[in-house]
Order: sequence, then structure tokens, then C-alpha cells
Amino acid sequence: MKIVQRVFIWDFAPEKISLTLHRLRNEWGLDGISFVVSNPSKLLFLPNAEHGRFRYADEGAVCFHPEKSWYADLPIMPIASEICGAHNPLKEASEQAKAAGLRVSAVVSCCYNPLLGKRHPELTVQNALGDRILHLLCPANPIVREFLVRMVGDLVTNYPLDAIELEDLGYLTLTRLKDLVTDLKIPPATDHMLSRCFCEHCCRVAAELNIEIERVRFFLQNELEQFFIAPTELSQSTLDWDVWQGLVEGEARKVLHMRMDIVSSLLALLVEEIAHKHDKRVHVEGRLLPASLWQIGIDRQRLRELADAIEVDAKEVTPDRLPPYLLLNRQVFGDQVELWVRLHPSERFIPNKHAFLAQVRACKEQKVDGVVIVGYGSLRRQNWNWILEAITLLKS
Ligand SMILES: [Zn+2]
Repeated sequence: MKIVQRVFIWDFAPEKISLTLHRLRNEWGLDGISFVVSNPSKLLFLPNAEHGRFRYADEGAVCFHPEKSWYADLPIMPIASEICGAHNPLKEASEQAKAAGLRVSAVVSCCYNPLLGKRHPELTVQNALGDRILHLLCPANPIVREFLVRMVGDLVTNYPLDAIELEDLGYLTLTRLKDLVTDLKIPPATDHMLSRCFCEHCCRVAAELNIEIERVRFFLQNELEQFFIAPTELSQSTLDWDVWQGLVEGEARKVLHMRMDIVSSLLALLVEEIAHKHDKRVHVEGRLLPASLWQIGIDRQRLRELADAIEVDAKEVTPDRLPPYLLLNRQVFGDQVELWVRLHPSERFIPNKHAFLAQVRACKEQKVDGVVIVGYGSLRRQNWNWILEAITLLKS
């Protein structure tokens, strides 16, 4: 089993990073390190970072300087975070990690990018009411697709990476933005309805397939307008495939299949660039409940064929519930693809060390292929001891 620590580059001071990474490899016993490429929020509070506890950053800006030639003739390219300055932190950190003997991966957020979306609304999801959701890029948009392929190409050719971890792949939902303010409760079904994309590209693909997408859009528009007055039955229902595929006399099913084809073909393009052309591994963010993957447009069968590993997140899962979820993922995906689990040794997601180590034990007993431990500078120092105990347990 591989144990990888997920970190922000901002956790490390450039002059100390080599020493720290050697310590993580040799004293902690980590196999690898995984660098989060784009800033996940406007402010990072990193109490145990080696320098700079508060990092103000543009959400969606990246920790590397893109090589311009990769994005020639495209209207967009990744936007380097202001914190980079003249440095290329990902370059320096990934080279130091390699030198320390760690396997190195980069976490790429695919369809969540508030920074690019605000600058280029035409690339974003447009819902049934015609509203643009600026923090979500539409996976059907040809520019978004090309941009993502070139960004992973830039990363795997210019940085000594062993793997790319693809996150936020597919049709995401409004509540992916964590600091959303509203007086409405938005249950998953409503979130799904509010976020369904009817941009010109989604509609073009539907037209090519002779799908009556306007009927589906009109149905959702009506439902949402009702929901803005008072909660409706559908808006409060569970997000089950059986219910949602049957709406609008089967037209809804065609749209859901279309979405899965769009996301699968995007994943295939990314795999072509990362794995086939450059021989690096592709990890894709999965879900504890694989049966819910259709909601974001992921086809389980295609995912199994295309990814090297699926990473599920054990955030907020009680230790006793983790084994059945892992078993379920094994049953759905078989041994063809590796199963990795993300664990969070943080008081935000797990009550205490005992519960965290119970999760770790579940991973060991279920013989998962890898564990990603999330957090370093963002954690309390006492929680570093949890990690050390987890590594000892997993390696024993
Ligand atoms: Zn779209």
C-alpha cells in the first residue's frame, strides 16, 4: 500500500523544503507527496506552514507558471497565483520531492475554477433559467476541454510528476462553492436542478443526437420557479437515477446519457495526454457511493476502463461506515482499477485520533491500494502524530 501526503506548496519555505521533504520520506516513511495545484479558497490559514500563516490568494489561481507555448491559439491559460512571484513553486517543490525519493503527483481541479469563469463567462455552466454559474466550467465546452488537455500536458512534460489526480471532473453543482450565502435550504435534488447545463455547447450536442433538450430545460425551469415560491416534491426528493431518468417521457434519460458521454470523452482525452503520450498515472476522484456518479456525469464503466486509480474521500464518514463503502467500490470497479482513500486527520472532519485510526484500520483491512492523507501546514502539530501513527499502522 502506498501512503501519500497531500499538501499545499505554500506549506513550505523554499529554503527549508528539501530538508522537510527528506524528513517526510525518511522519518515519517511517506511514499509520496501530492501537490494541490490550484488555490481552493481566497484565504488559506496554515498555522504550521514554514512561513506565512495567512495566504491570501485568488481561488482557482495555480502554483506554477504555465509554459505559454502549450496554450498558443487558446483564449485562456492557467493563471499563476500572485504568491508565486517570480518563482515557479511547483517546479522547485516537485524537483526537491523527487530528489528526496518521493513519488510526486499534482492535484488538478478540472471543472471548478471561479477565477477563469469570472473572466470568461462563456465557458461556464448556464442553467435552465439562463443564469451562468461562474465558478463551474462546462465540460462540453470545446475550449474548456482543450484547455484542460493542454494544462495536464504542460504539467506532465515540465514537472517530474508520476501521476495526475483529477478532481472536480464533470458537471458539478452550485454548492461546490463553499461560501455560498442564501436563505434557502438547497437539498441535493434542488442543487442538481439549479446546476444542470443548457449552454450552447450542451444544446448543440443534444441537437446532434436528436434529443429534445428544450423540453427538459423547460421542465426544470418550471420546477425551479415553483421551488422559489415554496419547496416542491421533486426539489426535496432523493437524487435517484430511477426517478430522474424517467422525467419528461424519457427525454431526461437521453440527456443524462449525453452528459456521461461528454464527460467520458473528456476523461479519455486527458488519459490520452497523461498516460498514453507521457506514461504517467491518472487518478480520478470517485465517490463513496459509486451509484451517485451519474449525477456529475461520470459513467462507472468508462471510469473503470480509463483510470489507473479511483480516489474516494472518507471525509465525515464514521469508521464503521467506511468498510461497506470500500467494499461497494471494489464490487463496482473490480481489481482493474486501484482503490485509494483520502483521509483527513483534522478536527473539522473527525472527532478524535481514535476515530481517525479506526478509519486507517478500515483501509488496511479492506486492502486499499493507497491512502492520501490530506493536510500538513494546515493541521495542528498534534495531528502530525496521528499521521505518524497511521503510517506505522499501515506499514506494519
Ligand atoms: Zn454546457
